[in-house]
Amino acid sequence: MTTELYLDGNATTAVLPAALRAAVLAMEDCYGNPSSSHATGLRAKALMDAVRARARRVLDAGDGRLMFNSGATEGIQTAVLSALCAIRARRDAGEATGTLLVYGATEHKAVPESLAHWNRLLGLNLALHKLPVDGDGRHDLAALRALAPQAAFVCTMAANNETGVVSDLDGIANVLSASPALWMVDCVQALGKLPLRLARTRIDYAPFSGHKLYAPKGIGMLYVRAGAPFTPLMMGGGQEGAQRSGTENMAGIAALGAVLAALEDGSTFRTHAGLTAMRDQVVQSLRAALPGIVFNAPLAQALPTTINFSVPGLSSKELLDVFDAAGIRVSAGSACSAAKAAPSYVLDAMGLPAWRSSSAVRLSFGPAVDAATIHAACARIARCGEALRRSGMAAEPAQGVSRLDGPMQLTVAGANTWLVCDAASRTCVAIDPQAALEARVDTLLHSHGFRLLARLSTRGGTFSEQLMLGERRLRKLAVTGDLTCWVLDDAQGVPAHAFIGMLAPSMLAALLPSDILLCPGIEEQSACCTSLRVALAGQDASAMAGMHLDGPALAALLREHPDAQVVDVREACEHAACAAGMAAINVPLSRLAAWLPEWLARPEASRAPLIFFCRSGNRSTRAAECLRRHGYRHAYHLAGGVALATLPLAA
Ligand code: PLP
Repeated sequence: MTTELYLDGNATTAVLPAALRAAVLAMEDCYGNPSSSHATGLRAKALMDAVRARARRVLDAGDGRLMFNSGATEGIQTAVLSALCAIRARRDAGEATGTLLVYGATEHKAVPESLAHWNRLLGLNLALHKLPVDGDGRHDLAALRALAPQAAFVCTMAANNETGVVSDLDGIANVLSASPALWMVDCVQALGKLPLRLARTRIDYAPFSGHKLYAPKGIGMLYVRAGAPFTPLMMGGGQEGAQRSGTENMAGIAALGAVLAALEDGSTFRTHAGLTAMRDQVVQSLRAALPGIVFNAPLAQALPTTINFSVPGLSSKELLDVFDAAGIRVSAGSACSAAKAAPSYVLDAMGLPAWRSSSAVRLSFGPAVDAATIHAACARIARCGEALRRSGMAAEPAQGVSRLDGPMQLTVAGANTWLVCDAASRTCVAIDPQAALEARVDTLLHSHGFRLLARLSTRGGTFSEQLMLGERRLRKLAVTGDLTCWVLDDAQGVPAHAFIGMLAPSMLAALLPSDILLCPGIEEQSACCTSLRVALAGQDASAMAGMHLDGPALAALLREHPDAQVVDVREACEHAACAAGMAAINVPLSRLAAWLPEWLARPEASRAPLIFFCRSGNRSTRAAECLRRHGYRHAYHLAGGVALATLPLAA
């Protein structure tokens, strides 16, 4: 299996080996409760005190408070609660306080959500005000200057998690110098990447999160400037000097201590210049692999560990799929649901065009990255570029890559465009083509050397009654006054597919043979295609029994059936981006309709098992279900996909 290159450090990081050892040691030898007065407890307390002292040194925390907690979301709650309680107390005492809760437009959601929550809960009724950022993602200082006299609390971040853009904290401090507003700076992405001398700044609150810098999840810290208002979020046994009750997470504290020690001794983490040189190598390989790439934040103003980019014509999901197939873990620059990427509010706030904000990819690494990882990442990025080019450009795709022949399904927002291709004559028609797919279809056909003969519709229109695609014939069948179905006869004159648009199969019962494959105009739950026999027979749940295979079951099935055919249903570019040597054919789910006739034509007795796989098991489930619904009982899929199981498939 391809080794994993984890380049999603802004989401979380692996645990540093020294941190892992420290956590284990804390659990084995230093398991005492630091509040206990016996020797076991005292040992734990000594460990905790040493880590706190180290954290104070690393952050230059001066006389400020420094408490351990569960992470930045908790630190943000505590800071917001502290600031809002102080504002309320001042207001109740008749002192002048501002009326605005100002937060940067690109803050992590934990900030505006916490502000709104505590503002409501405490009955303060202050106004939340989003501080705009400029096109480079930096806070608009002129806007802040105008707001400063009315600001009660200002929340900004040191560096942005999506773009890596580094804030001008000195500039903000300058603007706030005459303002009584309290100031929180979310330092989550800055630790280990930017110098922080907190006690020398005007910053009142600074939350940190261990898991963004090689400590485990569930440990964090909050710095509070000496003299800044403070209200505990958690009450109870009075731990952490009564600032944060609850028995301390000693394993987490010990691990964080090891990370802080590494920061102090300077030998584990790379310098800013070293990281910048590595970032430049990655940027160069991205530029070479992905023509037209645009970077969504000025690299010179961003953390050297974060690269946010978009590629014209490719969605973030498509890029993520190809990178993932090559074993490179990156993330969409934005929150991403399973099927479609939501635009990034961070990039929207920077005023970037919608296509960039909805197709952004974030590649980020931690400051302990090694040269071998960067080298391997560059090689794999080149492989991804080659895979994308091959799947879209190769006139005669390489062996194992699906040939453009027969129907191909392209789906946007649940609506299907069907391309009907004829490899022999290099001609093609598009049925119900969507405008959003025009550029994509053009590139695909151009790169395969195909000619588009017609754009057809299943909603009537004035098209001719039939047209030839090489030896295939496509003929029109008017079903109602304005709904049409297009029937595709194969080279032998046998009706193989019908493109039915919005027509329900029942409307076609008397018009079409019962086994012709019906290709719908909308993506149904099951996707792919159906037939009259299948659609009218209803669902038989037992037909799906035993379809899901885990790794060992797959290995056993392959041992028992050496003739089994293993089918990668990922897109051609994902298949090509995988390391070579996979003994599987590639039939992207979008091409399943083209392959079904061949598989279903096999006599029942000689049907070898078909085993589908993809990355997560979603697409392969759909493929196996489709085969089984059509009576191919020996169709299986790899549950959880290659993300969870290793395929025993070296060629
Ligand atoms: N702030 C920023 C900038 C972040 O990137 C994150 C994590 O994604 C958080 C806050 C929340 O941190 P935690 O996961 O420790 O709650």
